[in-house]
Formats: sequence, C-alpha cells, structure tokens
Amino acid sequence: MIAVKGYAAQNPTTPLAPFNFNRREVGLNDVQIEIHYCGVCHSDLHQVRDEWGGSIYPMVPGHEIVGRITKVGANVKNFKVGELAGIGCFVDSCRTCPSCQAGNEQYCDVGMAGTYNGYEMDKKTPTYGGYSNSIVVDENYTLHVSDKLPLKAVAPLLCAGITTYSPLRHWKVGKGQKVAIVGLGGLGHMGVKFAASFGAEVTVLSHSASKEADAKRLGANNFVNTKDEKAVTKVRNHFDFILDTVSAQHDVNMYLGMLKTQGTMVMVGVPPEAVPVHAFSLIPKRKTLAGSMIGGIRETQEMLDYCAANNIVSDIEIIHIKDIEQAYVRMVKGDVRYRFVIDMATL
Ligand code: NAP
Ligand code: ZN
Repeated sequence: MIAVKGYAAQNPTTPLAPFNFNRREVGLNDVQIEIHYCGVCHSDLHQVRDEWGGSIYPMVPGHEIVGRITKVGANVKNFKVGELAGIGCFVDSCRTCPSCQAGNEQYCDVGMAGTYNGYEMDKKTPTYGGYSNSIVVDENYTLHVSDKLPLKAVAPLLCAGITTYSPLRHWKVGKGQKVAIVGLGGLGHMGVKFAASFGAEVTVLSHSASKEADAKRLGANNFVNTKDEKAVTKVRNHFDFILDTVSAQHDVNMYLGMLKTQGTMVMVGVPPEAVPVHAFSLIPKRKTLAGSMIGGIRETQEMLDYCAANNIVSDIEIIHIKDIEQAYVRMVKGDVRYRFVIDMATL
C-alpha cells in the first residue's frame, strides 16, 4: 500500500480536514502521479454536501488533477517517469460495453469508476480524488499533458474544459452560428473560450452584471444580463445553440425561448432540484433540449492537445488547501474568476 495525505469530508456538514489514507501499489498497467495542482469544481461542492444524494464518506474530492509521473508499472507503454500527466473525472470503466468501445467511457453501461465519491470496477473499493498528494491510475485512463502550457491553469481543463468542449464538438458548433453560454463560472468561461475559438458568435447569458467586461475579454461578442427583461426580450428566437452551465435552480423555459427554430440547448450544469420544462417551450419551433457529461479519454486528449496548440488554459485563482471551505463559499456566490485551483504543495 502507498501512504497518501489528503483532505476529506467526513459528512455533509463539517468542514473538510486533513485525512491520511492508502492507495494500491502501482500495478503492471498503472502509473503513479505526484499531484501538483487540483481544480475545484462545483461538482465537488454538490457531492461534499450530498446535494445530489448517495454521497460516500469519507470523501476526498477533486477530479481536475495534474502532476508528474513518479512510477510506472512493468507493462505501461505510453507514459514515462518524469512526464506530466492528468486525471479527469473517472479512473476506470468496463471497457467492453458499446459506449466504452466507442471511446465514450463516461457513458459506460456498467457505470464508470468515478475519480472520487465512487468505487473501483469491483464496485466495493472506494475511490479517492485529487485533494491529495499522489494518485495511482491505469495508464488507459491517464492523459498526456503538454509542458508548453502553465500547469496550474491546465488542471481545470480535465473537467471544466472537456465538459464544454465535448458538447460544442458533438453539436458541431462553429462559424456562422450564434451561440450562448449560460453562467460565467468554471465551466462557462471555458465554454466561451472554446466556442469563440471554433468561430461562433458568442453571447454570455449571466445573472451577474459585473462579469460583462470579463465575458468580452474571454472572447464573447455580446453579454446579456438575464435580470434585465428588455435585454432578454431582444434575444428571443435568436440562438442556434445554448450551453447551460448553471449550478442552481433557474428557469430553463426562459432560455429555451431564446432558441431559434430547431435550435438546441444542452444542459451540463446540475441543479440539485429537478428543473420544470413546459412542453410549449419545445414544441412550437421543434426545439431540442439535451444533456452531456464530461467526455471520453480519447476526446479529453484531443481537447488537451487542441488547448496546447491554440494556447488555451483556464483563468484561475490559486488557493492553499486550508482555504478550501472559503473557496466553496465564494463559489456558491459566483465570486470566482473563474476557477479555484489548489496548490498541492500547501498540503
Ligand atoms: P461555477 O463555477 O459555480 O459556475 C456556475 C455559474 O452558474 C455561476 O458562475 C453563475 O454564473 C451561474 N449561477 C449560479 N447560481 C445561479 C442562479 N441562481 N441563477 C442563475 N445563474 C446562476 O460552477 P461550475 O464548476 O462551472 O459547474 C457548473 C455546474 O456544472 C455544476 O452544477 C456542476 O456540478 C456541473 N458540472 C457538470 C458536468 C457534466 O459533466 N455535465 C461536469 C462538471 C460540472 P453567472 O454569475 O454568470 O450568472
Ligand atoms: Zn467537475
């Protein structure tokens, strides 16, 4: 066993605190990564506080992991000691179902092994995430990270990056299209960067008027304050595609009203409560409402390579691990520009 230091939640209400635990020895197909940085996703907070139900404690959150490889198993072919590497939201899957075969391991029929708040594929060994100093993962679920980009700003690409890249690619968003990103947070700001990079005309739909200048700096052409009724009316029947990253209760029907005929809105944000959708928000103009979850290993590597080639990273604020609770409070208030990243040297 490998002794590891981390931070864990013991239940939904008490603050995260130091937690020592063991990881498995490096197996034949495994790599061990010394974790340098881990991004703080709103999903960490939803799960720490058990907002989606079924949380497993103790919980070591964190699925935006980057660091350096310190050990490789005898059969490892694609990674070497000393290289940079990343781990995203899952560490294994069944590898044989149609989704896994198609490279969509995140949609594994048996259920992927989440990086934390989950179990290995034996469905009984708990997984612990990136708020820790080391992780052991099968090389097939490990990503190559370029040394051309600042490592700390790469960390959020492993979840916020791929979660926005994948639906924009799947629905072929690009030149000649009007695209809206709802919510300018960790996911949203990456959505803006990718949609702009793919050539779309990008509008940010935000309930925080103070984010307008940032939205434009990040690549948006337009900004709509969703609390301003007149501004909302102006964009009725306007967008080809809307990516909704909002983490809290909100009126999806209002945003559906902004889609053109046959437009598509994709939900990636996961408000804890069910979101009511009126059939008349969809029927009269044959609109589509869809969902999307992170991305497969192949597509995550494609996204990381695209970012290295196009110089795309996250806008981050580095934090000390002891300040994680304060970061959660600020994240709920929308007070993050635009992703907190934990410096694991502070562990
Ligand atoms: P985040 O950084 O907190 O950003 C969420 C944004 O939503 C906020 O910045 C805010 O933007 C907007 N928002 C928050 N409360 C709102 C409200 N009451 N009404 C309207 N807008 C509100 O969170 P994140 O890390 O980007 O994650 C966003 C959501 O995606 C979370 O629910 C997370 O669990 C989920 N997620 C899903 C996947 C997936 O695979 N589908 C992957 C990762 C995360 P403005 O201030 O601009 O309005
Ligand atoms: Zn995440």
